[in-house]
Amino acid sequence: MARRFGIEGGIIGVVAAAVVSLGIVGAVASGQLGGPSKAEADTLGRQAARAPKIAPVDPSIVHASDRPGRSLNITIDDGPDPVWTPKVLEVLKKHDVKAVFCMIGPQARAHPELVKQVVAAGHKLCDHTVSHNTGMDHQPESYQSQQILDAQKMIEDAAGGAKVEYYRAPGGAFTPYSRKLAAAHGMRPLGWNVDSKDFESGSVEAIEATVRGEIGNGPTVLFHDGGGNRALTVASLDRLLPWMKQQGYGFGFPKR
Ligand SMILES: [Zn+2]
Repeated sequence: MARRFGIEGGIIGVVAAAVVSLGIVGAVASGQLGGPSKAEADTLGRQAARAPKIAPVDPSIVHASDRPGRSLNITIDDGPDPVWTPKVLEVLKKHDVKAVFCMIGPQARAHPELVKQVVAAGHKLCDHTVSHNTGMDHQPESYQSQQILDAQKMIEDAAGGAKVEYYRAPGGAFTPYSRKLAAAHGMRPLGWNVDSKDFESGSVEAIEATVRGEIGNGPTVLFHDGGGNRALTVASLDRLLPWMKQQGYGFGFPKR
């Protein structure tokens, strides 16, 4: 479900963020913060225990494609779903298009075979949190951290080796904290430019018209493979992907 546009965030030094993060953990360890609550200590401990093994990435919200020229990034949210994810994978394969799948943690944990199929087909993984709470930007940092890091672990455990390369907040509910946290764990915050509104449109024609009308907004296009019957999504992808190629677009991944 997408309700809001991701807003381009300011670029904040990744190294500085990492240093601050380490500094906080160090301060807690040496008791310099005057005694954090148990919940805070747990959160920081969880973050420290999951110190990133891969390089941090830029914490600003990306929309651009890593492919030069006239390019689109197809993104598929709210799965994996045992009925609809295989059908979306099929239509992407039919048109030889790679996409980013923004997955909900518990669904990835419930369907690890789907996560592995997504990876094996050459698509990329994105963290779409544990609970898909579109109001998470109004929740405490400890909640945001749990939502992001627990889902990352669920998806990576299910993937069996592939890393989660992006983080997309549900409904675009990013915060400066959540962007920096995700980036420090190797996940580039991911926005979108074109919302297909496949979630609420009543026909393939309506979805097609929305995407055709907004394709000039920017390269990153949003569809869904979860959250309900996605037959219209599959049918509209089958018509839109060839149309996009006819318009001269190629397909890449969002920059990291
Ligand atoms: Zn969503």
